[in-house]
Amino acid sequence: MISKRASKFTSFIVMDVMAKAEELERQGEDVIHMEVGEPDFPTPKVITRAANKALSNNKTRYTHALGLLELRQAICDFYLKEYGVGITPDQVMISTGTSPALLFAMLAILDHGDEVIISNPRYPCYQNFILAAGGKMKEVKTYPEEGFQYRPKDIKKKLSPRTKAILINSPSNPTGIVMTEEQLQSVAQFDKQYIISDEIYHGLVYKDRAHSILEFTDKAFVINGFSKLYAMTGWRLGYCIFPAEFSKVMQRIHQNFMISANGFIQWAGIAALTKAQKDVAKMVKIYDERRKYMLARLTDMGFVIHVEPTGAFYVFADARRFCTDSYKEAFRITEEVKVGVSPGIDFGSGGEGFLRFSYATSMENIKEGLDRLERYLSK
Ligand code: PMP
Repeated sequence: MISKRASKFTSFIVMDVMAKAEELERQGEDVIHMEVGEPDFPTPKVITRAANKALSNNKTRYTHALGLLELRQAICDFYLKEYGVGITPDQVMISTGTSPALLFAMLAILDHGDEVIISNPRYPCYQNFILAAGGKMKEVKTYPEEGFQYRPKDIKKKLSPRTKAILINSPSNPTGIVMTEEQLQSVAQFDKQYIISDEIYHGLVYKDRAHSILEFTDKAFVINGFSKLYAMTGWRLGYCIFPAEFSKVMQRIHQNFMISANGFIQWAGIAALTKAQKDVAKMVKIYDERRKYMLARLTDMGFVIHVEPTGAFYVFADARRFCTDSYKEAFRITEEVKVGVSPGIDFGSGGEGFLRFSYATSMENIKEGLDRLERYLSK
């Protein structure tokens, strides 16, 4: 029998849309994928070379449970250089992607029935990490005109003695919005709770810069990884930065559940952090061109973009003029015009009536996909 907990895990609808799109492709259809949140670029050569070298040098064993000291040190150097924050390697745990890092952070701070504040809309998997660790999500409604940012007074209303953490994600999936210093500060003021800050889209920012939560508070768990910025989704490499008092417990959790992250891939991670700046700059420039093009086209078609998205690779477009049921609409668009898009409802009830478009695909595909969508909408 399936456990009560497991049966409560919600599905990640984006993956269901992608499965539908792939089914159409198997039938010979040409589908444009704007549903997926995965870089279309190959992993930079400096990174693959480092992995090959590590393999040739037999770096094929378990590493320290928290990860290679050299990689943890490179992460500390990176956070110092980028954000001016001092952390030490015993505050870093390397895992196989940010996803397990987030799960282990939840395991480290939640007891059964503890609560975590999340925004509505947000990345759909968050609620399931909380559930897996025995916690409960407390949703805070956010508003499109405010870039879907928390109103601190609404966070306050949801706080209870059981609230252990407040989750933030900037640049955000699905909205592409980057939190300002003031917004980060207004969340960091909640000093009885931990702030869990998902910084996986850091670096993919097209105006100003993203700030780390660690610039505002030490009482934070930072989740970050290599999937997006370095086009390394399939490598599975990510990390968690935590307050020093969690060092032993994070080590124990990782020892038991993962033993360690993949050895040779961690060496590639060092190359990503220290040698891939030029490759990243090229990708960022291309994403920005696509972003501008997509924003202009969607606006022309009648979608409403309430606040300009300046990070990640998503546009969360208000489609309420055309649709009330984003789930049905996303599948209809995928099936009828062969353009994969993500339904806003996947990200919570606050995303209903919205569609998420990813520009992590070539300009050629974006043009063709938006042409198809325009023809569909004009009918
Ligand atoms: N957080 C956010 C906001 C994401 O969009 C994703 C990937 N879709 C992840 C975490 C997980 O990334 P990974 O496990 O590949 O590091």
